[in-house]
Amino acid sequence: MERVFNFSAGPSMLPLEVLEQAQSEFLCYGSSGMSVMEMSHRSKVFEGILEQAKADLRELMQIPENYHILFLQGGGSTQFAMIPMNLMNHNHCADYVITGQWAKKAAEEAARYGTVHVVASSADTTFDRIPKLDPAAFHSNADYFYITLNNTIYGTRWTKLPDVGDVPLIGDMSSSILSEEIDITKFGLLYAGAQKNLGPAGVTVVIIRDDLLGNAMPFTPTMLRYDIHAKHNSLYNTPPTYGIYFMGRVFQWVKAQGGVSAMQKRNEEKAALLYDFLDASALFRGTVVKEDRSLMNVPFVLPTEELNAEFLQQAQAAGFVNLKGHRTVGGMRASIYNAMPKEGVQQLVAFMKQFEAEHI
Ligand SMILES: *Cc1c(COP(=O)(O)O)cnc(C)c1O
Repeated sequence: MERVFNFSAGPSMLPLEVLEQAQSEFLCYGSSGMSVMEMSHRSKVFEGILEQAKADLRELMQIPENYHILFLQGGGSTQFAMIPMNLMNHNHCADYVITGQWAKKAAEEAARYGTVHVVASSADTTFDRIPKLDPAAFHSNADYFYITLNNTIYGTRWTKLPDVGDVPLIGDMSSSILSEEIDITKFGLLYAGAQKNLGPAGVTVVIIRDDLLGNAMPFTPTMLRYDIHAKHNSLYNTPPTYGIYFMGRVFQWVKAQGGVSAMQKRNEEKAALLYDFLDASALFRGTVVKEDRSLMNVPFVLPTEELNAEFLQQAQAAGFVNLKGHRTVGGMRASIYNAMPKEGVQQLVAFMKQFEAEHI
């Protein structure tokens, strides 16, 4: 069976080189005589894997020394609760911008622990854009200001960060980490589940500024405290060891590609192939306003449900899989994360062109 072009939103494609490397190291890692999966998380060998992964991520994202890098479990969704439990502790309120399902879920979870101010939302246009912000609506006493940097389901992204003054900016980067350059110093906390751009599901990266540690609500479970994980260097309990190993290999792969700036350039080229085609097409149509288009998730539709279904079925048969849009949007969505080769996008566009020619 040949590998297909997998446009899944997550878990999604991983770099072939990394999969092959992991395969070659599967039974026996280095001179350890065992698989990473069989290794004590307290062993010297694993400590080396963890430290290398942290150092590589620090280098790739230019993370200053006053930020901790944590490798946690529970996926992106556990952060929806950890963030308020650990940070909503001075004035018990926070500002949220609702740009899609993930931001909405995060805000709903936070509302269980304090006051959530929705300062902007694009729900009324089915999240086809990043809403315009009115700084007068921001709360200067908010414990933090929360955004979702790339909206996986709707295909939008923030291209310019809001100016929130001294309020810590919190960013969900689950579907765009390492895909474009970002200024970490603008953030108090950034996080990303692994299964979109980093590796297999099971590990979540949290990057948190020093001064935000240590204020968790008294009832916060020990396992949900950032300060505990920071103090123990992500080894308070058994971390997702294999996920950390694999993610570390992806970090090295990104470095070998030329780092985040090179990934961004490649991602811009890939996305432009699709968007340029959509803009010129008489049949297909992108669903997002131009200025807020994601580099990672490209939703598009055909004029009728029948055509959507026919396209999806033919695409699948031709080896372009997982193109079905999220159930709340319909149509199609091509997720083209770092690991999707340019060739995959070129071939998809060629296929779409042919479909158009046959249906117009
Ligand atoms: C996938 C995703 C999540 C949820 O991640 P889980 O690991 O499934 O909890 C949160 N935010 C964004 C932006 C995502 O793409």
